[in-house]
Amino acid sequence: MSQHKIQRKPFVVANWKMNKLAHQVHEFLDEVMPPLAQVDQVEAGIAAQDIFLADMVRQTADSPLQVVAENVHWEDYGAYTGETSPRALADIGVRYVLVGHFERRKFFNETDATVNLKVNAALRNGLKPIIDIDEDMRAYAQFMDAEPAVAQVAAALAGVAVDQVRNVTIAYEPTWAIGSGEAASADQAQKAAHLIRQTLAHLYSPVIAEKIRILYGGSVTVDNARSIMGQPDIDGVLVGKAALHPKAFLDLVDIAQTTIE
Ligand code: PEP
Repeated sequence: MSQHKIQRKPFVVANWKMNKLAHQVHEFLDEVMPPLAQVDQVEAGIAAQDIFLADMVRQTADSPLQVVAENVHWEDYGAYTGETSPRALADIGVRYVLVGHFERRKFFNETDATVNLKVNAALRNGLKPIIDIDEDMRAYAQFMDAEPAVAQVAAALAGVAVDQVRNVTIAYEPTWAIGSGEAASADQAQKAAHLIRQTLAHLYSPVIAEKIRILYGGSVTVDNARSIMGQPDIDGVLVGKAALHPKAFLDLVDIAQTTIE
């Protein structure tokens, strides 16, 4: 394990998307909270629909489990019917928010520009954004064409100051891997994460880049998580389908622990 990894606490984030009902949320949390209370070397979080977040924050009040919003608006508050205010998320006790998920970009026309507005809005309101980078870095791995991915990272972070970027997590989630059953290989994921870290070093400084967590997402399972999380630049996973079941979610947290022990 690299020395660098020691300073970054692994982060396992479930993305439930639009897949749970209220009683299922409650039962899931009931099941995972006791074992998670014993875990202090890994951070665990669950991204859920807005309607559940306040209840989840209440239910997890004595737990290290983080409640994560799946989206946020770029204005603090105002006349934006149907949107979610970052100020209101912070006010109910949410600490993290996904920004720029591939499905937001694909179905809701999010662009690098709106992602950037949302990242800044989140930080301004005390939320920690988990920024999705969905560029296909296979091209980078094969042809060393780093430009699109570097551009996406730089665009997402425009205007984010040095003292704020520590609150950012980056999730590398190549479009072709999300929900497809075809995860990036550990080597592809590492190369992409390394490129992202180099980009952060260029934008800020090498010291700061070493402090920022970079997750991999896209068809992660309990079978491939170990090799992916074992990579030096990968500090955790963002998991959709495979984290819908409490046992699998706990297994992923256990696997994350083994990568630091
Ligand atoms: C996701 O949607 O962020 C994701 C990684 O989904 P899945 O694990 O199902 O590919």
